Amino acid sequence: MKSSAQVVVVGGGVVGASVLYHLTRAGWTDVVLLERKQLTAGSTWHAAGGMHTLNGDPNVAKLQEYTIKLYREIEEASGQSCGIHITAGVDLAGTPERMDFLKLACARARYLGLDMEIISIDEAAKIFPLMDKRHFIGALYNPLEGHVDPAGVTQAYAKAARNLGAEVYRFTRVTELHPRVDGSWDVITDKGNLNAQHVVNAGGLWAREVGRMVGLELPMLAMASERRTNLRRKEKARALPARFRDGFVLAGSVMADLPMWHSSAQIVAVNAPPCIMAKVGPSGRP
Ligand SMILES: Cc1cc2nc3c(=O)[nH]c(=O)nc-3n(C[C@H](O)[C@H](O)[C@H](O)COP(=O)(O)OP(=O)(O)OC[C@H]3O[C@@H](n4cnc5c(N)ncnc54)[C@H](O)[C@@H]3O)c2cc1C
Repeated sequence: MKSSAQVVVVGGGVVGASVLYHLTRAGWTDVVLLERKQLTAGSTWHAAGGMHTLNGDPNVAKLQEYTIKLYREIEEASGQSCGIHITAGVDLAGTPERMDFLKLACARARYLGLDMEIISIDEAAKIFPLMDKRHFIGALYNPLEGHVDPAGVTQAYAKAARNLGAEVYRFTRVTELHPRVDGSWDVITDKGNLNAQHVVNAGGLWAREVGRMVGLELPMLAMASERRTNLRRKEKARALPARFRDGFVLAGSVMADLPMWHSSAQIVAVNAPPCIMAKVGPSGRP
């Protein structure tokens, strides 16, 4: 392992790998990523890989659009497939309030240059036939939606960064971080130490523990993600994502090439009454 670097990124999930790539693209090539296990060993390994541009925060929506377009760039830069499937998707409204939100989101998305459209529930049902129209009053159609392979994306970021000079050390756990008087950091690992001008905490689920190494108590907490499955329907709906988020609910995103529990997990709610829909995360976001 080298003994010094301009930047050390702690954590080899999709975020750490993305930071590494963006640093190299900005010309910071003396950069290192340290991962305690394999790349993607944290949340990234579990992600269903669903991607969309609908978000209550316009900046995040624009960032999501940027990321979706970036996947092609890193595929070219790395030669590694990201498993991109742009299927388009529909967001469903079951209440007038939800419909208002979708109209607002649509108007804002168009202002940001995103190509979304409000469609009737009949049109939505044509696109996504498994839907039970009785539960919904309208929908938002988003052509820039689909799914990727999160492991492929992470590897593509890492490879593209390596091509520009970055180094990635796997099976290297950061155990301590010590500041020096010159403002740099001694990064202590179970495989040796190195000095860094900057340290990036991309520890994901473990970011709180990494923060504690420098006396920071980051307000982060791992939350449960509850999903229900209906294996019988999985074969019928390998088309496009359909979501219904009122009451923190999500349904219908189908990833044909991801593990079974992903493809089956998110589809159950399509014809089900809202009370048994899959609940995803504390914020209702995937
Ligand atoms: C079931 C599930 C489904 C999801 N579905 C989606 C989806 O459809 N779409 C979507 O956009 N997002 C989805 N997500 C969220 C997405 O997975 C996460 O937002 C993303 O993976 C977070 O990446 P990360 O790099 O921040 O964290 P992680 O992937 O957790 O990476 C952190 C890394 O840091 C390493 N690490 C920790 N401590 C140390 C240390 N001391 N030294 C060295 N390395 C260390 C870990 O080993 C790990 O590899 C889903 C998440 C889950 C759990």
